[in-house]
Amino acid sequence: MTGHPSNEPILGYAPGSPERNELQVEMDRQMGEVIEIPCIINGEEIYTGTTTAQVIPHDHGHVLANVHLAGRGEMEAACAAAVTAQAAWIDLGLDGRCAVFERCANLLAGDWRMRVNAATMLNQSKTALQAEIDAACELIDFWHFNCHYARGFHDDFQPLISPSGVQNSTEIRPLEGFVLAITPFNFTSIAGNLPSAPAIVGCTSVWKPSRNSYHSNYMLMRLMMEAGLPAGVINFLPGSGAEITEAALANPDFAGLHFTGSTATFQGLWQEIGMALPNLRSYPRIVGETGGKDFVVAHPDCDRQGLLVALLRGSFEYQGQKCSAASRAYVPRSVWGAISDDLCSEISKIGMGDARDFSNFMTAVIDQRAFDKITGYIERAQERDCCEVIVGGSSDDSTGWFIEPTIIVTTNFTSESMTEEIFGPVLTVYVYEDDDFEEVLGLCDEASPYALTGSIFATDEANVQRAFEALRFTAGNFYINDKPTGAVVAQQPFGGARASGTNDKAGGPLNLLRWISPRSVKRTLDIPQDWSYPFMGDN
Ligand code: NAD
Repeated sequence: MTGHPSNEPILGYAPGSPERNELQVEMDRQMGEVIEIPCIINGEEIYTGTTTAQVIPHDHGHVLANVHLAGRGEMEAACAAAVTAQAAWIDLGLDGRCAVFERCANLLAGDWRMRVNAATMLNQSKTALQAEIDAACELIDFWHFNCHYARGFHDDFQPLISPSGVQNSTEIRPLEGFVLAITPFNFTSIAGNLPSAPAIVGCTSVWKPSRNSYHSNYMLMRLMMEAGLPAGVINFLPGSGAEITEAALANPDFAGLHFTGSTATFQGLWQEIGMALPNLRSYPRIVGETGGKDFVVAHPDCDRQGLLVALLRGSFEYQGQKCSAASRAYVPRSVWGAISDDLCSEISKIGMGDARDFSNFMTAVIDQRAFDKITGYIERAQERDCCEVIVGGSSDDSTGWFIEPTIIVTTNFTSESMTEEIFGPVLTVYVYEDDDFEEVLGLCDEASPYALTGSIFATDEANVQRAFEALRFTAGNFYINDKPTGAVVAQQPFGGARASGTNDKAGGPLNLLRWISPRSVKRTLDIPQDWSYPFMGDN
């Protein structure tokens, strides 16, 4: 491979900057309309008439869109359209397919940037920076780098040996059939990447977006169509995940699942696919990135101010709704004594409110269900003797689903908020005796079923190395003296193992490989003319 793309530069949105002005104008425009969102099947808009309202999480009385939900007929039609579209999509060749997605990246970097960022801020309640690093930069990177990596396969996977009289080669075929992409609410970039990564290498997709991100995801669908995505290559299907899965598995050409979301949903889907095997033409590929219980372990010799900043940003940016968000911390008593007051005082300065108010660091959580689940964890912690809520703890769902950034200190390292994924602005801290670093590494490794991200804060290299070894299988993305969030495409390929997923590292070659099914080709130049072998000769 020669040369490679660069990461998309992050715009700053400082007061008075042109991008800030443009974003505000675009948000006002989107606030002033209620759009109709159709299913898109074989390039056609289908308005089913069965609708649901898409609201703004920080202003849940405000409707952004009416979304037309797919019924069984649309689901079957989408799968059939994906199957029909595949032959021409393969014929277009890798360069032709990459040209489409590179145009997508360029449109998103240009004219579409503010539309998609504004939609993400309103639809999923992100601040300007959180929308920019997700909806714009990460997705632009996914598209550019996936095309770059896909081009590499054609050279890298050719057979090493072609003896005299033989030409060996490998055809990089896609899977035969369509991929079902089921996407989460929390990253617009992931929603765009899951149907398009398999498409780059020649699969077609049925895309089921999350019910909490229809608006921003529909923008992406329109963008891809403007970039020249042929009809049927990606089919956009708002609707019930369970029903769409049932329709997809009833089609023998179901070739794979590209999923990001919770562990429970993924485990259920894997089992359903297993049950459907007798009906399927191929063994489907199953790729899923799922939940996390991401940790920060501090050593007594750590950079204390650095730890404070990492805990605050890592736990509370995007209201803790990143799969990588820091949600449990193991802090030595000496360090906790030195930083806890400052940490609480900094957290009490965090502004929380409307995403359009640029002074806010946090906005609302995604919906009533998330609000109830997260506040339930806080209430139970408030009632338990082993837990103390030392900052935050209040919530208000009257206009938006707002939950204060909250820290629980626990004396029980197995308490539920220390071990279960909460997916909200709640950090639980276990304070350990300074001499117990070694034991704490073991506790951290065994406390939860997940293994997505985690950080070690330590200054002495021997302590860093000790954690690096003890936590080898505790995180798929491991950070040294940094927060456990903010992975960048082509820098820290992202994904976790254990209950956190299949660890196929989105945005990189390992993921793309899951969507190909190579054909080995031997061409014989000296065609044998005699069927007998030398060993058969007389003595
Ligand atoms: P979710 O599991 O509720 O939903 C994910 C998707 O699955 C949605 O589109 C949803 O409609 C669909 N779905 C739900 N039930 C289904 C069913 N029975 N059959 C088929 N589809 C179904 O997750 P979410 O709330 O959208 O996202 C949050 C979760 O995603 C968290 O657990 C988070 O850790 C995880 N996540 C992981 C990563 C990662 O890279 N590891 C990234 C982002 C989010």
